[in-house]
Amino acid sequence: MKRKDFIRLLAAPLTLKSMELQALSNMLHLFPDTPKIPVLFIGHGSPMNAIEENEFVEGWKKVAQEIPKPAAILCISAHWETRGTFVTGVSQPKTIHDFGGFPQALFDVQYPAPGHPELAQATKALITTTEVELDKIWGLDHGCWSVLVRMYPEADIPVIQMSMDITRPTAYHFELGRQLNRLRRKGVLILGSGNMVHNLRILDWQTPDSGYDWAAEANEIFKQKILNEDYSSLNNIRSVSQVFRLAVPSYDHYHPMIYVLGLKEKNEHISFFNDKLVMGSLSMTSLMIS
Ligand code: ZN
Repeated sequence: MKRKDFIRLLAAPLTLKSMELQALSNMLHLFPDTPKIPVLFIGHGSPMNAIEENEFVEGWKKVAQEIPKPAAILCISAHWETRGTFVTGVSQPKTIHDFGGFPQALFDVQYPAPGHPELAQATKALITTTEVELDKIWGLDHGCWSVLVRMYPEADIPVIQMSMDITRPTAYHFELGRQLNRLRRKGVLILGSGNMVHNLRILDWQTPDSGYDWAAEANEIFKQKILNEDYSSLNNIRSVSQVFRLAVPSYDHYHPMIYVLGLKEKNEHISFFNDKLVMGSLSMTSLMIS
């Protein structure tokens, strides 16, 4: 090999790395430093919360008023699972009505918040453990907009979504959440949207305001484990006991919370709100890290 070619070979990975660093430094210029923004996990429950008035919606509105208005929002929703990790890279994300059997009034809801392609690029650059791809097809699914339309009805804050890689274990999602931490000091609200206890197959329509005994038990133990930072069991939740195999029959609504827990810094406080079970096997329990 000629010396010239050898040097080119050596330089190639460096060029790639410097492109990523460039994307990061572009991000740093675009977003002024801010005080640290809290992180939220929202139990979203029924899509009808987008248009109904109830105590959970009141809780969402209240928390939006309590925290500083963010410059942008990064949402990790239960309803966007993919192979690989994607962030929405469009400048005007569409409102996706990803459900069936609900009134027309819910299908009529639009959430016309702009996207933020530069923030999408910066998010891609921040994550080092996998190659994040920009997506131009997805918009905002109901896990995201049914909550934001109540928290920020003006739709004047740019929103991007990040997908969850269905092929990866819980601990991987925890680590990915951790890597997003710098965005908190750039005015970005990171919001996970799912449900801690979420078993749709055994919903009890006769008990809209309460939960099964096992669901109540799971909800209480969840809160203890979260406060105790017992991540080794939270990252292997279905192996803990039968109540968690019932509470977390699949990971779609659970993993958004794991991203949020990955963002907790030492000495930060966790507060729970909307701490209630509905329809037997659904918890609306939400949390804020600040
Ligand atoms: Zn959902």
